[in-house]
Amino acid sequence: MMTAPAVATGYGCRLTIDLGALRRNWTALNQVSKGALTGACVKADGYGLGAVPVSRAFYQAGARFFFVATPDEGITIRHALPEDAHIFVLDGLFPGAAPLYVGERLMPALCSIPMLEEWLQACIASNEAFPAALHFDTGINRLGFRLNEASIVKRMVDSIGYKPQMIMSHLACADTPKHEKNRTQLALFTSVLAQFPGIPASLANSAALMTGRENHFQMVRPGIALYGGRAVAGRRNPMTRVVTLEAPILQIKEVKTGETVGYSAGHTVSRDSRIAVVAIGYADGFFRSQSSSNNRPGGKVAIAGHYAPVVGRVSMDMIGVDITDLPVQPLPGDMVEIIGPHISLDDVADVSNTIGYEVLTSLKGRYSRTYIDGDSTSQGFVPNE
Ligand SMILES: *Cc1c(COP(=O)(O)O)cnc(C)c1O
Repeated sequence: MMTAPAVATGYGCRLTIDLGALRRNWTALNQVSKGALTGACVKADGYGLGAVPVSRAFYQAGARFFFVATPDEGITIRHALPEDAHIFVLDGLFPGAAPLYVGERLMPALCSIPMLEEWLQACIASNEAFPAALHFDTGINRLGFRLNEASIVKRMVDSIGYKPQMIMSHLACADTPKHEKNRTQLALFTSVLAQFPGIPASLANSAALMTGRENHFQMVRPGIALYGGRAVAGRRNPMTRVVTLEAPILQIKEVKTGETVGYSAGHTVSRDSRIAVVAIGYADGFFRSQSSSNNRPGGKVAIAGHYAPVVGRVSMDMIGVDITDLPVQPLPGDMVEIIGPHISLDDVADVSNTIGYEVLTSLKGRYSRTYIDGDSTSQGFVPNE
């Protein structure tokens, strides 16, 4: 399922994914959620990093419960993981898809009466209780049974003695722990659970896991934190970096005072400058919102540990960066850090006006991808409480 290019010469951008860091992040979160099972969200091709290698890393670390969005994603990892991996499909059950889910041992997060009806019919037809989760909407107004459907749902499952695998809900504002909606949703979720005694429950994404034990219940389902992204707004991100992204310098340009750089000529240099043209652009997930103009600074890259600002518009395939002030001048072919030890995923997200999730899931296309198993030497995990 990875979008690797048909031809990979190794020239061009380099994306390095640290499987050891993924395992350490899972283990760290599993420590924080002690007492609950720790799943792993691997939807959207493992947050853009490759569902198969990423899921295998989490499995190795001890994860047995995986969350994907679609049945296709579920099948991909079903065939890549050992038998005892359990896979929930968060999109629920697509009409007519019950035989497929049953055949591939995928568990839908059922979220509507028609979905539940189809699933229970499939169970009755085979005289077997195929496992599934029941997803209740406690206020996000996305997927989930409405709360006033709880008694119908309860009657339907009881009528054939069906025991759901899990009751789940999802918080709208977990990244902002002080938001009062968290408490409202938690209370509503607890009231739903009271109607399904003895059924395991799951509420927490990464942020909810990291901000309160009361959110853990029997299973937590982190995503972004596993991949090294910031889950909780306004807090130090304690996770280990997973992704390193580098791009090569193609050409170095001497640009005279008063000349402009890039499309629409929006950035005029105010001194004689050296501009490195780097082979990464918006087609590679380097967002146009990192463009600079004379009115507005843009993003930055790092070269041998020193920062160099983006100059002018981000193009499809390249950016310009100002290397005038670098103590050691780089050469064409040298690699520039886009995400790495000096520029975090969160930094890139902030300067691009987006979130780490979108940065990660946009890292597709023209990278040569390398999976490494970095050794654990850095960054002890300090849980947020
Ligand atoms: C994506 C998702 C998660 C994981 O969320 P993170 O913020 O990435 O930890 C958990 N639960 C549901 C329902 C999701 O859609």
